[in-house]
Amino acid sequence: MGKVIIASNRLPLNIQITEDGLTVTPSVGGLATGLKPVHQQTGSVWIGWTGLPEDEVPPERQQQIDELLVSEQCGSVWMDHEEIERVYYGFSNETLWPLFHYFMEYVRFDPENWAAYKRVNERFADAIAEQAEPGDTIWIHDYQLLLVPALVRERVPDAAIGFFLHIPFPSFEVFRTLPWRSEILEGMLGADLIGFHTHNYTRHFLSSVRRLLGYDVQEHRVHLPRRIAHADSFPLGIDYQHFHQTAVQHAERTRREQSDIQKALDRFLAAREDLRLVLSIDRLDYTKGIANRLRAFERFLERYPQYVGNVSLIMLTVPSRSAVPQYQRMKSEVDELVGRINGEYASIDWHPVHYFYRSLPFDQLVDLYTTCDIALLTPIRDGMNLVAKEYIASRYNKRGVLILSEMAGAANEMSEALLINPNDADDIADALHEALTMPETEQIERNFILQDRLERYDIKKWSQDFRDSLKNVHAAQQRFLSRKLDPSELTELASAFGEAESRILFLDYDGTLVGFRSQPEKAAPDPELYAMLDQLAGMPNTRLVLISGRDKGSFDRWFGNKPYTLVCEHGVWTRPAGGEWQQADGLETDWKPAVRQVLELFTDRTPGSLIEEKDYGLAWHYRKADPELGTMRANELKDRLNFSLSGQNLEVLYGHKVVEVKNAGINKGRAGMRVLEDGKEAFVLAVGDDWTDETLFEALPDRAHTIKVGMQNSFAKANLESPAEVRAMLQALTGSTVEGTAFAGGA
Ligand code: UDP
Repeated sequence: MGKVIIASNRLPLNIQITEDGLTVTPSVGGLATGLKPVHQQTGSVWIGWTGLPEDEVPPERQQQIDELLVSEQCGSVWMDHEEIERVYYGFSNETLWPLFHYFMEYVRFDPENWAAYKRVNERFADAIAEQAEPGDTIWIHDYQLLLVPALVRERVPDAAIGFFLHIPFPSFEVFRTLPWRSEILEGMLGADLIGFHTHNYTRHFLSSVRRLLGYDVQEHRVHLPRRIAHADSFPLGIDYQHFHQTAVQHAERTRREQSDIQKALDRFLAAREDLRLVLSIDRLDYTKGIANRLRAFERFLERYPQYVGNVSLIMLTVPSRSAVPQYQRMKSEVDELVGRINGEYASIDWHPVHYFYRSLPFDQLVDLYTTCDIALLTPIRDGMNLVAKEYIASRYNKRGVLILSEMAGAANEMSEALLINPNDADDIADALHEALTMPETEQIERNFILQDRLERYDIKKWSQDFRDSLKNVHAAQQRFLSRKLDPSELTELASAFGEAESRILFLDYDGTLVGFRSQPEKAAPDPELYAMLDQLAGMPNTRLVLISGRDKGSFDRWFGNKPYTLVCEHGVWTRPAGGEWQQADGLETDWKPAVRQVLELFTDRTPGSLIEEKDYGLAWHYRKADPELGTMRANELKDRLNFSLSGQNLEVLYGHKVVEVKNAGINKGRAGMRVLEDGKEAFVLAVGDDWTDETLFEALPDRAHTIKVGMQNSFAKANLESPAEVRAMLQALTGSTVEGTAFAGGA
């Protein structure tokens, strides 16, 4: 088993340059703790920025630091002052952070910051690629490194790459405003598995992929030209036992063993037995809704005056990005609000708000969690919110109430909390009242369920779950690649073709010989294709069959004078080389007007869609429609047709962005077999991309060589990736060598 390479903006340690040399202290964030067991595995490496500006550290010191990092199983990526400004403060925190949290008014689009972001992402990819060996797993984290998955994929094509986004992914309407939206999505799609905290973030991501890049998205899978990427939700957990056991131990401490903060809290509560404490903890960030919370607390005191003098809010606000003007303004606003509320309501022995602008060590946080009756967490938007989970985990006696913003990712898994809209001060005031009057039995009931869930899906489980999923996704990719026709199999195929006395080739057209076009009439054959098909059809004892869902008009125009066998409309029409068009038996058309009416209704309601009339079929194409609307309407149409066609001898086909109604019993499988029966050739090859080609793969005798174009599962025996590869394969059959063609094979 290979090692794990973790990459995140910051390393899980802090480096200080002191007079005596270097000191290294581990960082305490959730991620650093959560990934510690993975990182400690033999040989694993964590790649990140040291936190130091490159231009402030002399080269010999940098070398020392790099050496020290190696002994800590870490690798450094350096950024100079300007890059830190542009990449960390700039593109990451002034573009991506506000945009992904729906704070459009704070977003800055600066091309120079973007250029620096790309450059630093490249540097990360280089550092990762340098460490990567076959069999390794690469796990990239968060919004500072969105381009890294694709950059690593370029450098190490076969690597198992996972990416996890720790902040929300915004809806398409917000994301589309970003000038570099496509590059960002392509960057993320370099990963095999892309993880988000919630299903909604996943949904938003897939919707943007579908709309902006036009890739086919099925459930959680994105069908890329050469691979399938998966996106799914993995809600980040916490180290439940650490919080819970610490809380239990703290409860058993003697007074002398207690922390100063616990002693102070106990003294405070002893003096006022009826006093109830509400806790809030967050970084001072505009996404956290701190001002809203204070206003709501003020509203609560107005609306429920019985609590004046009895309920205090303990608000721990951790300084964050304090050099940024927006954050400074927010700090002033919060300071003012606290001053105003305290000025208005405080008495000699009671303060409505106790405000701390600092951070606290873990033990003291747990003391706050265990001592406060209620946690009030009201972010306007928050990827997850770990504080909510930590509060619940620390409630060792199962009492206490969590009030949580429904805009926090955590709310998805914590529906037993009191969920509030952070913009609704009345809602928050009422929730506080409800929490203060909630019977203990109900508190226990709710917390029992919450704790059980947090204990099961803790940070270790999260990390394991993500890596297991990545392993499965990657293994599926590898399985596909092993099904891929590789150069040696191609050589075998070519010699079987060459040695056979007689041969027949069934070739689908769209998606197989030519790529898809939004206007099907533009997908006419190019001179190179004609030349190759002519060459194949001109070989002795060789029949070339073009077998398609297209109408016979186009094929007549393009191939009417060619010595190929043509099969159109999935088998309605067949024209032997040099012969006349023949029609399959038992076909009817009297059903068409009624079905056309239904299709017209769907065309009117789906801009960009169109109806194609065939002799014995009607097809509704939605390739040019909005991808999501198109898919939704196709499903609606399916229900509608199932209902209105029942009892008729008709069939509905669901092809690539097309729904087609046609006479039952007409398919490429039957048509192909009819053609084959005429010659019973020794060498049989069928190539197709759509699921309508599956009927042919399934029907052909065992000796047939069958090739599916694309990554999907198939009855075919092998896969190729693209029309370019199909052409290269056909070229090889005509006797040219594999080298020098577009054939990439399964390497
Ligand atoms: N935290 C801390 N010291 C403090 C306050 C908070 O270590 O004084 C930790 C807290 O335990 C939690 C993290 O900071 O793990 C905050 O995570 P959250 O997801 O709530 O918010 P973020 O800051 O990541 O947006």
